[in-house]
Amino acid sequence: MKIKQTKNKPIKTTILVVGLLLGSSQLIAGEAHEHGTADLQMALEVEQLQIVFKSPAMNLLGFEHAPQSDEEKQVFAAVAEQLKSPSALIAPAGCDLVSMDVDMPEGAEDDHDEHGDEEHEHHHADISASYVYQCSESAPDITVTLGLMQTYPSMQHLRVAWVSDQFQGGMTLTPEDDQWIKLTH
Ligand SMILES: [Zn+2]
Repeated sequence: MKIKQTKNKPIKTTILVVGLLLGSSQLIAGEAHEHGTADLQMALEVEQLQIVFKSPAMNLLGFEHAPQSDEEKQVFAAVAEQLKSPSALIAPAGCDLVSMDVDMPEGAEDDHDEHGDEEHEHHHADISASYVYQCSESAPDITVTLGLMQTYPSMQHLRVAWVSDQFQGGMTLTPEDDQWIKLTH
């Protein structure tokens, strides 16, 4: 009974987090939007690993409005590409990426010219991405190598939280720290 409860917890947590991220980026923006800081949440359930990354768009793009100049459009496209093939950013050893959901700032991916955003001086936007990996069940632990702060130097703090069948924890990484996290089942 006890074991079942600990096993159920990560699933609920993950669904809640993902639901919140996909539901409304504005909601999150009001809660925990802090330039220079990003969040990484990892949930390991038997052989399935789910990783949710969330950051103010500023850390990745250098701006938080829909891209307008050619240069901004190039940066936006490059960041979208990086998040869609994330092995240089997030690399869990021995795991295969099976699905992902990358959420760039709302409206920014379309070519619609929305002048409304320009009028809001304090408009903030988040970027989020969630990844599901299939990992080897026989491995006692999984080392997740991170290249996020190396790729995006504006990111000075990465709050990492993880939960597995038996363990949960968290820490804040800075660029000076070793850029990997070991997850234990
Ligand atoms: Zn912002």
